[in-house]
Amino acid sequence: MQPFATHTAPYIVAGPCSIESRLQFAESVDALSQIPQVAMIRCGVWKPRTQPGSFEGRGEEALQWIQDVKKQHPNLLFATEVATPQHLELSLKYGIDAVWIGARTSGNPFSVSELCSALQGCRLPVMVKNPLIPDIKLWTGAIDRVLNSGISAVAAVHRGFYLDNNLGYRNNPLWKIPIELKRQHPDLPLFCDPSHISGQARLVAKVAQTAMDLNFDGLMIETHPHPQQALTDADQQLNPAQLSRLIANLRIPDKNNTIPNELQLLRQQIDIIDGELLRHLADRNSVSQKIASIKQANNLPILQLDRWEQLLGSHLAEAAALGLSEDFVRRIFEEIHSESVRLQDDALNGVKR
Ligand code: PEP
Ligand code: MN
Repeated sequence: MQPFATHTAPYIVAGPCSIESRLQFAESVDALSQIPQVAMIRCGVWKPRTQPGSFEGRGEEALQWIQDVKKQHPNLLFATEVATPQHLELSLKYGIDAVWIGARTSGNPFSVSELCSALQGCRLPVMVKNPLIPDIKLWTGAIDRVLNSGISAVAAVHRGFYLDNNLGYRNNPLWKIPIELKRQHPDLPLFCDPSHISGQARLVAKVAQTAMDLNFDGLMIETHPHPQQALTDADQQLNPAQLSRLIANLRIPDKNNTIPNELQLLRQQIDIIDGELLRHLADRNSVSQKIASIKQANNLPILQLDRWEQLLGSHLAEAAALGLSEDFVRRIFEEIHSESVRLQDDALNGVKR
């Protein structure tokens, strides 16, 4: 079995957030083994918890349960999260087939380096989740460290980012980050973890579908035989029947299909519109620079809050009349305005770029 082989996309990794007992785990795997698309079982043995005193996983005894259950299911691979070289050593001792580096670890270069030193010489497949903060360099840095340690089967897992506005999700999907990751690493399998993005079982299928629409290669989905009784992440886990339905209903686009003429024509229109937007932005920047000299000559501040508030208010009203989303237009104009402030500040301070 080739881990992360994505020619029959999507590669499905499913299983409980945490292994809670021998029985809960055996029940999970028995049910998941009935879903032919499930290639790998995920199961948390050590759980990173925000609060002390919460359930932190069963540790080594759970590895023993995995080893026992594995014997009954030779066609499945089993993966767990490792955060320290000790976790890795124990996982190897009990014959774990793959590991993942979680979001709290992948953002810490010290921890990733330690894990990667321990990975030297192993052939273990590794999945690297995105760090909690949306810094793509932290994510690609962790991936590069794993690749440099000689591991060839590596996959990235997008699990969303913890931001001040999570758009109703537990973690904001911020799709532009995994899209950029795919651009930088086109051959690296890219999976989505819709469970940790959603935080609620009812959103999981929608997020999984978006990932398929964006050409992701696989999904990691938390499943529990009785989600309401789960000791961790109870709200977001699906039961096996819900997972089976989710998989059956996924619409999988075919990236090899030919592109119809109609689409090519629309893409030409997009290219033209984007070119216009860029020229408008360049024109706007030159006006900002002229404004900077007038403000300087008249000893006026760069930021005049009432003018900015009035401008934003009128743009938002116009945007609403045009049927554009307020949040989208606000974000764009906040970016445009901060670039204008930066240019004016540079002009005033004689900074050349
Ligand atoms: C998990 O997969 O159970 C987990 C803890 O995920 P993350 O590291 O993405 O929070
Ligand atoms: Mn979880």
